[in-house]
Amino acid sequence: MKFDIIIIGGGLVGASLTVALKDSGLKMALVESRLPAPLPDDASWDSRIYAISPGSASFLQEHDVWQKLDRSRFSPVSEMAIFGDDHASHLNFNAYDIGMSELAFIAENRQLQTAVWDSLESPAGNVEVVCPVQCTSIVWHESHVDVQLADGNLLQTALVVGADGVNSWVREQAGIEFSKYAYEQIGLVANFSTEHSHRHIAYQWFRRDGVLAFLPLPDNRVSMVWSTTEAQATELRELSEAELCQRVAEASEHTLGELQLITPPVGFPLNFVHVKELVKPRLALIGDAAHGIHPLAGQGVNLGLRDTRELVKTLNERGLQTDCGDYRLLRRYERARKEDILALELVTDGLQKLFANKNPTLTRLRNLGFEITNQLPLLKNRLIQHALN
Ligand SMILES: Cc1cc2nc3c(=O)[nH]c(=O)nc-3n(C[C@H](O)[C@H](O)[C@H](O)COP(=O)(O)OP(=O)(O)OC[C@H]3O[C@@H](n4cnc5c(N)ncnc54)[C@H](O)[C@@H]3O)c2cc1C
Repeated sequence: MKFDIIIIGGGLVGASLTVALKDSGLKMALVESRLPAPLPDDASWDSRIYAISPGSASFLQEHDVWQKLDRSRFSPVSEMAIFGDDHASHLNFNAYDIGMSELAFIAENRQLQTAVWDSLESPAGNVEVVCPVQCTSIVWHESHVDVQLADGNLLQTALVVGADGVNSWVREQAGIEFSKYAYEQIGLVANFSTEHSHRHIAYQWFRRDGVLAFLPLPDNRVSMVWSTTEAQATELRELSEAELCQRVAEASEHTLGELQLITPPVGFPLNFVHVKELVKPRLALIGDAAHGIHPLAGQGVNLGLRDTRELVKTLNERGLQTDCGDYRLLRRYERARKEDILALELVTDGLQKLFANKNPTLTRLRNLGFEITNQLPLLKNRLIQHALN
């Protein structure tokens, strides 16, 4: 079986790339090792919730994915309220101030995943979804790549796209160098219903024990992401429902009143991954396979979708170049993406380290930084513009 592109990894980023290229005339295979979880019959909420930027939402809309989402299950964010750890300093971003109707949309992972997968089918028949199947080996040749699957099938392609997440197997097979370290933190996620309305405000508290965020869900519900030490995450998970609600309400300074747990807490280990190269001859990396960042900015999927948008642009504008795996062509994608990725890696990693540091001088400085930034509309504007893409 011969393809122009084989995309390995059908998470949000890899599946979105496939959808965005399905009218390009290129013959593609999407290889995914796990069948996506079906939507539940009941009205229960997914504990994996994403803040989707307006730029990502427009991209998904352009490819008829956004329209498939159930509007009653996602919520716009019109304001962000960020607090320092001195109970006084704060930083506010308001959509109204920058002439936007929202700063982001909060949506469930499984809703997004289902909408993207439902859009994979191509009337031209140029998309092959190979799932659930594991890849067992990749052999790189000068003119093509052989991808061996566990079911015995051998696929041949001009370009492999690694979209297989933060522990990318494809990245390893290509011998791409990367640096990785564990934050020694867990991202604890859970959903709550709240006594008071969130008024479409996303809250974030930079605390001495980590970063606590509330993302608004429809009606009086929020999704919590508490990035905290492994010890505290274990302790929180062992609490009774009532105790956990009390602890989270206290940590959030009772901003939304009393809380009730809707979905049990689930923990994700947090890692930083910086990849030295995004491309090699016949290979491009996108999404978490290309970068692993701390979730405090809620930007991982958005960064991955920006990779997707750029790779689609590079491939669609290849002109007379018929070989999608051509290294010079792929370098254009890499050059266009490096700055954005590096900027977000530095900001998220820097903020995480700044707030993990217990030095009292730094404590004063970082809180002062919030206050100063809050007084500077131009700086605020520049910061928020980046997050809107
Ligand atoms: C606590 C937490 C909160 C977050 N909140 C946000 C947020 O609010 N906003 C945001 O933008 N981002 C957020 N993120 C980041 C976000 O989760 C990731 O950036 C995103 O899931 C990356 O998507 P991906 O498609 O690149 O990778 P993944 O979602 O990891 O998908 C990779 C896919 O590849 C498949 N795969 C793996 N290996 C193979 C193989 N060998 N063969 C075939 N298939 C394979 C896997 O089964 C999987 O489906 C958060 C992360 C955490 C941990």
